[in-house]
Amino acid sequence: MQSLTKKTLGIFWRHSKRYPWQVLVLIVGVLGQTALQIYKPLLYRDLIDALATAGLKDGFDVGIRLVVLIFVVNFASTTIRRVINFTVNYFQPRVMADLTNSCYQYLHKHSFGFFSSNFVGSLVMKVKRYERAFEQIADQLTYDLGRSLLVGGMILGVMLWQYRTLGYIVLAWCVLFFVFSYFFSLFKLPYDIKRAAADTKTTAQLADTITNNTNIKLFTNYEAENKRFGDVVHDQYRLRKKSWDLGTWGDAAQAFSMIVLELVVMYLALISWRDGRLTIGDIALLQSYLGLIFDQLWNTGRNIRNIYEALADANEMTEMITLPHAVTDAPGAPALAVKRGEIVFKDVHFGYHQESAILSGFHLKIVPGERVAFIGPSGGGKSTIVKLLFRLYDVKGGEILVDGQNIAGVTQDSLRQALSLVPQDPILFHRSLMENIRYAKPSATDEEVIRAATLANAHDFIMSFTQKYETFVGERGIKLSGGERQRVAIARAILKDAPILVLDEATSSLDSESEMLIQDALKKLMQSRTTIVIAHRLSTIMQMDRIVVVENGKIIEEGKHEELLKVQQGVYQKLWGIQAGGFAAA
Ligand code: ADP
Repeated sequence: MQSLTKKTLGIFWRHSKRYPWQVLVLIVGVLGQTALQIYKPLLYRDLIDALATAGLKDGFDVGIRLVVLIFVVNFASTTIRRVINFTVNYFQPRVMADLTNSCYQYLHKHSFGFFSSNFVGSLVMKVKRYERAFEQIADQLTYDLGRSLLVGGMILGVMLWQYRTLGYIVLAWCVLFFVFSYFFSLFKLPYDIKRAAADTKTTAQLADTITNNTNIKLFTNYEAENKRFGDVVHDQYRLRKKSWDLGTWGDAAQAFSMIVLELVVMYLALISWRDGRLTIGDIALLQSYLGLIFDQLWNTGRNIRNIYEALADANEMTEMITLPHAVTDAPGAPALAVKRGEIVFKDVHFGYHQESAILSGFHLKIVPGERVAFIGPSGGGKSTIVKLLFRLYDVKGGEILVDGQNIAGVTQDSLRQALSLVPQDPILFHRSLMENIRYAKPSATDEEVIRAATLANAHDFIMSFTQKYETFVGERGIKLSGGERQRVAIARAILKDAPILVLDEATSSLDSESEMLIQDALKKLMQSRTTIVIAHRLSTIMQMDRIVVVENGKIIEEGKHEELLKVQQGVYQKLWGIQAGGFAAA
């Protein structure tokens, strides 16, 4: 926690000091404005004393001079305040934008593994909270806690200098007040955390039930859901009230200490006035200083808590943007050069966790232009092998070579440019179909995109939409069917025209017409490319140059379809039996 907070503040400071002039204006401005605020009551003291002691004529002359001076101080103070505000208006949103960009860029370079183990919603929330945390802390320094400390410090300075004893009393009170605020904040923090957790729970419950709205309808469970939600909201109410009540008790203690201080200071001031050591002006000055201190310090407890909360929020994100990227380019790594498209897995070892090995000593050589199908039981490691080829994870041992170059030694970008993937369940951006397909080759013309879509058998369904290529596809591509999304993915692969192709075939969810259209598109795509297919369909398997049966991370059989069928008691023979049987029965 300590070191994370230090890192958070370090990051905030690094982003802030890119705007040194603004930072300087803010520091000088806040100091200047506070000093003027403290100076003004001194002028009023002189004014009151002049009126009380001088004759009518003299008093008036001095009074006019002081009133003009007070005007100048007010004018300067309000002008500085506006300069501060305009500077903040530029500085804070600018740094917030920079922070968000930094988070965005760093976050996206995290590995596939990172995104598999973090929820989208929580990542989005953390990025948003990060910039809010900066705003909170910057505000605290400029307007709240930072200014309170300055006001308190300056008033104490003046009081110790002019009214020594009273100064010590106020100093002692301030110390007690800060200590109380600090410890009370710490005491209240767990209640605030519980309240925040209850908030989160209500939000989560709300989101989950909205997602499941259809289920609630179909199973007519309104009553039960209302009760369940009502319970969560009741909890939230209870904890919120508890935390607010504590706040009110804290305020009460604070207010009481303030009125006691005022009583003591005013009593002692009156004695001094009686003894001729203080003037009426002094009494007025003390009164207005107490008012200033009370105003500024009133929210100290809340301000301390706000800073704590902001830091706690920010630390979550700091952890993610200081976590080293799991997969990185070696320093000075060259680009991968692919001429032929040969792939070799050489003694590859890999596991997602320390304890469990998925691959131990995996060997496979795929010659240029060869079409290889991976088949085998689910969980056998087929997708893992493909992820390693794309370097979504680094191997734990051995190496993967593309045209003789170790993929760990070349840039990730150049590696992934040489590979095309058609995933089983493609995810699309909520952008137009034109943009989604063009994503594979940003420089492609509209004609090239349409040609790729036509080859992928996607053109016809796209043209049937009223907005055609300008149709937006919904979050993750939800407005398209599985088969349509897959054809968009195939169009992307055609456009990308990479020398090595990987297909993760969709199994279910395709009717036979979509399947035929997709098969046809894939056949065109595979021509003259090294191809790996994670195969589920008999039709694809039969066309392949080689079939590799993977089970428990090992190749247990390989060869052409006819050869494998001849292996007595072979896994392939068995799988084929089941699938072909099912196929025939269907
Ligand atoms: P296949 O593609 O043959 O169905 P996979 O390569 O997906 O098999 O999975 C191989 C094994 O790795 C399975 O036991 C699976 O549970 C595990 N696995 C896959 N992805 C992850 C992951 N991100 N984290 C942990 N284990 C994983």
